[in-house]
Amino acid sequence: MLETSPQTRKKYVCVNCGSPIKSLYKKYSASVLKLRECEICHNVADKYVEYDIVIIAIDLVLLQKTAYRHILFNVDFKNFWKLSVILLLMEAYSELMRGTPRQAVKNEEEEEKLFLNEFNEMTDFLFYKLSFNVALKTAAFMSVLHYLTKIYCKVLGKNVITFMTMWKTLTISSFGTFLLLPSLIWDTSVQEVHLCVVSLFTTMSQLLAYTVVCDCPKLWSITAIFCAYYCKIFCFDFFQMIVTRLT
Ligand SMILES: [Zn+2]
Repeated sequence: MLETSPQTRKKYVCVNCGSPIKSLYKKYSASVLKLRECEICHNVADKYVEYDIVIIAIDLVLLQKTAYRHILFNVDFKNFWKLSVILLLMEAYSELMRGTPRQAVKNEEEEEKLFLNEFNEMTDFLFYKLSFNVALKTAAFMSVLHYLTKIYCKVLGKNVITFMTMWKTLTISSFGTFLLLPSLIWDTSVQEVHLCVVSLFTTMSQLLAYTVVCDCPKLWSITAIFCAYYCKIFCFDFFQMIVTRLT
């Protein structure tokens, strides 16, 4: 069970309907607790309070809104930045590995030699450079999405979503990056197909998480995510063009 502290937190939501609730459970005595029911939908407001983290993770993989509401609103997940760094490094490593031409080599001996040569040629500098590029792209994506959301919330008179909340939302919804590991380790022949599947899953997770945190229609989520994605590509290309001209 993830740590929750209803007495100290200000805002909780019912994971079923998204309505605000005062606390996640009622405390009758030191050892007797009862999960609170939502006054709007009359279901248990947050059933995940009693669930193991593995069950919650499975529901996240299954793209359940309820699991996202639990993680984003009802849990103190302060160390999400660590997960963010791990995802960033994993994406950079994936890009590093995809830059190698191993698919074209059929002979195992040749493949092994090429593999070793490639690793000899790979420098730490290249990995750091890729990590910096991924960090830059991620920062551009989050910034654009944050400002689009800010405009959306101000226009509709909603509470503005903070940058930290946006960072947390995108970090949690990008956990699909871990799925890149199998093709990096075992079978590189299906890497491109696998990458497409992982990218699709990650985008769907981000759309769902954004819809949950922003409480907006799906059409706006799709518009905002795709605008942020293309702005990210444009910003990165622009940055690379400036670097190329300066060097
Ligand atoms: Zn409810």
